[in-house]
Amino acid sequence: MQVIKPGDTRGTLYIVATPIGNLEDISARAVSVLSGVAVIAAEDTRHSGRLLQHLGINKPLVALHDHNERGRVQNILDQLLAGADVALISDAGTPLISDPGYVLVREARVEGLRVSPIPGPCALIAALSAAGLPTDRFLFVGFLPAKRSGRRTALEELRKETVTLVFYESPHRILDTVADIAETMGEHREIVLGREITKTFETFYSGGATQVLATLTDDPHGSRGEFVVMVRGAEKAESSLMAGALDVDRLLSLLMEELPIKKTAKIASSLTGLGKNELYQRALDLKDS
Ligand code: SAM
Repeated sequence: MQVIKPGDTRGTLYIVATPIGNLEDISARAVSVLSGVAVIAAEDTRHSGRLLQHLGINKPLVALHDHNERGRVQNILDQLLAGADVALISDAGTPLISDPGYVLVREARVEGLRVSPIPGPCALIAALSAAGLPTDRFLFVGFLPAKRSGRRTALEELRKETVTLVFYESPHRILDTVADIAETMGEHREIVLGREITKTFETFYSGGATQVLATLTDDPHGSRGEFVVMVRGAEKAESSLMAGALDVDRLLSLLMEELPIKKTAKIASSLTGLGKNELYQRALDLKDS
């Protein structure tokens, strides 16, 4: 059991959130902490150097990124143990949220050092706060796998979740990811994309997955910039439909009496909101059995 209170003579590790676009989103406390620490650990020192220059802060910067975090941690811990305050920042938003810093924070806590958050911008929270999707319970998934097969497997696993799902996605993969959501979770599943939040071209796209995909494809800026992808959780009735697999099987069986399997899966997917591919597979299994 460990309780760390203010007053420790050793240094404090501050986890400082920085803007996700609009530089005015830096908090007054973030500026004062960044101005007061001995060292700032940053994911990309060149990138953060520009932010600090904009803020008129001139402090020694050390790089702490995914590739060197384990090696650098001891050096930063030594400075904290010697009494120096250190701030950790990432390229944008809140450190450790799909960003480096976990090893440092973990080790600092193991050492019994004081770790103090300076809260501020975070893309997933900003996106959720304006999306109009339920926020009472949500699941943040971070980045989906880059390869299509891995991404679809991950989406299939999440399909029955009844809570709002939140992903980060790169502009190169946004169209493919939305297409995969439509295919695995149903073309009518409500999704909201938050693009370039807090920046000049901030845009929210919302609607059924296929509808959003079409809008994004038609928008010449559609696949540019940074995206948060949010997906409305599966309807309770829908997930109980899955639990009571008999109903889905019955629906598939009835449709299959009149239609080819592909069409059966498509219509069943529209009716239930379940994934077309899985329904197709289920229909094949039913036919074989
Ligand atoms: N630590 C950051 C945070 O607190 O949000 C996230 C870092 S993660 C490496 C970067 C991803 O966050 C981007 O690929 C994008 O999905 C999302 N993101 C960051 N800034 C954004 C913005 N202004 N608008 C939309 N998404 C953003």
